[in-house]
Amino acid sequence: MTAHAPDMATLSAYLDGELGISERRQLDAHLATCRPCALQLAALQALAADFAKLPQENLGFDLAGVIEGRLAVAPRPRGKPRTARWWGLLPVSLGAAASIALGVGMGSALFGGAAVTPRVTAMSVFDTLPPGGLCLGAESCYGKGARK
Ligand SMILES: [Zn+2]
Repeated sequence: MTAHAPDMATLSAYLDGELGISERRQLDAHLATCRPCALQLAALQALAADFAKLPQENLGFDLAGVIEGRLAVAPRPRGKPRTARWWGLLPVSLGAAASIALGVGMGSALFGGAAVTPRVTAMSVFDTLPPGGLCLGAESCYGKGARK
């Protein structure tokens, strides 16, 4: 706790009687001379009083007992848990690689050399100038690496 402006947690601990004797005495002395902190403590006390007025909700049964009962009758997995091995994933990875290779091959067969043009166009997003951007100067538009 600092000499001035105790934080909300400290005030709450003070209110709940959770501070040590020396800390409580320091805060008592501070609250006697600091109006903002005293008002903050009064607001916390009012809040605690309002919470105490709220009705207690009662389920009417022991929820923990119900959960424990359901866990007790739930089926448990039998035997040793199966561990994954790398060769277990081999058919999946081979299938994925074959699918990608087939897709690339079919795309190349369908579009031939024209497939290169859309890829270059798509990569223009990474140019130094955005599409439709204005030139700041000849060097920025026509310099090395700028869009042609
Ligand atoms: Zn204060």
